[in-house]
Amino acid sequence: MVKEKCGVYAAKCFDGGDVFSNLYWGIVAQNHRGHESYGFLTFSEGFRRYVDLGLVPRIEREEFLRWKILLPGSVGIAHVRYGTSGKRDLYSHLKDAQPIITAKGRKRIGMAYNGNLVNVGWLKEEITSKGIKLKTTSDTELLSRYLLEKCESGLIDGIRACMEDVEGAYSVVGLDSNGTLFAFRDPLGMRPLFYGSEGSVMAVSSESVGLNINEIRMIGEIEPGEALIFGKESLERVRVVKRERRAFCGFEFSYFMRPDSVVNGRFVYKIREDLGRRLGRRYREFVDRADVIISIPETADDAAYGLHEETGIRWERMLRRHRFVTHRAFIMDPAERVSTIDRKINVLNGNLQGKTVIVVEDSIVRGDTTKTVIRKLRESGAEKVYIFVTFPRITHPCFYGIDMATFSELIGFFYDERGIAEKIGADAVCYQTIEDFVEATGMRREDLCMACTTGTYPTELAQKIADRVKTRLEVKDGSRIYERVEV
Ligand code: SF4
Repeated sequence: MVKEKCGVYAAKCFDGGDVFSNLYWGIVAQNHRGHESYGFLTFSEGFRRYVDLGLVPRIEREEFLRWKILLPGSVGIAHVRYGTSGKRDLYSHLKDAQPIITAKGRKRIGMAYNGNLVNVGWLKEEITSKGIKLKTTSDTELLSRYLLEKCESGLIDGIRACMEDVEGAYSVVGLDSNGTLFAFRDPLGMRPLFYGSEGSVMAVSSESVGLNINEIRMIGEIEPGEALIFGKESLERVRVVKRERRAFCGFEFSYFMRPDSVVNGRFVYKIREDLGRRLGRRYREFVDRADVIISIPETADDAAYGLHEETGIRWERMLRRHRFVTHRAFIMDPAERVSTIDRKINVLNGNLQGKTVIVVEDSIVRGDTTKTVIRKLRESGAEKVYIFVTFPRITHPCFYGIDMATFSELIGFFYDERGIAEKIGADAVCYQTIEDFVEATGMRREDLCMACTTGTYPTELAQKIADRVKTRLEVKDGSRIYERVEV
């Protein structure tokens, strides 16, 4: 199971109204993208910041006034985090919580971002060689310090320098020391970022659901390489850098985005249903033998429905997630991780005696979750278990902000379908083909990043690192491999 990454939200009330409740609901709607910490930054004659660990808290109606006093102003940004870089103890989580404020002389900026930087080694060197001491272990601080260094003659110059020099995925929202709101997206547009408006409010959000919840009409996405600057009365859109292609993360469709999010005018749940249908058509020989479809909640539910519609096989929601068990399995040793997964997923005691079961899963990274589920289904009497996976086989690490940055943690790197089935105790593992996956998204192949399934990365350094690391698998701890490999 992969952890969700970060989510950002930003809003400006052009009529001078309080922005806090808009920020709050916009980021609550995206809490699925990060559980480790959350934070708000508003501007009213200066920055006002609040960050804390865990989920965005429930705020009762009568408490909003207190929060508005704590975080006053008509413009602000918000963030939920699941770190893919930096230290992972609680103190570091709090220190790295975003938005982060950095300063250079009298200039200050507050920034929050979703993504991951690839050439962090170079960037760190650039910053620290100027005598600047880093206060956090977060990429956000690096990116915002670089921006500050380069924006002598204006914000756009700083953003341009980031886009030209910093490799990686970054969807950014920020505020400068005049309270100017800005947002920008890396030149390949790897992570999502949308914007919209309603009445006197304009907002930016990682997913469209952040806009929906505030009844803000989506205008569209911030284009790759584009920056939005929210002036006193108007919005300026600047295409800072233009590339031939884009590289939107394919994995967002299978796993990260909420099913009710919209990308390219289509609901993500519709794409997932299509992914399920395609699996049904492609793996007829297994479908013909199956008695029941079961899905791993919740990201595979829509695909299971599509598979059910395609095949007419009964779909039973026999696996349920304990909603409030949100412990982090990734930092545990393998035995502890398995028992945490055991607690997270409840297999209902249905009658599976002698049955052939198709389990629909969104992805297989380490294989722990699927293995646990298969064991539980067998304990309930299932005779044969086929695993249908909506995302193609993950064979390579991701350097762009998904929590799978090493070859050594990927079961799909070491084994083919047959080997994986054996390892996790399935009778067969059936992956979506890359071709079917791309077609289901409705996007052009060259506009998607599918590097973790093909080994072909959309950026130069990531490609070099992957090629180099493949031959050096002794690098296998939790830190980012690209900080340890010379390229
Ligand atoms: S490597 Fe995979 S997970 Fe990472 S950005 Fe590309 S498609 Fe997404």
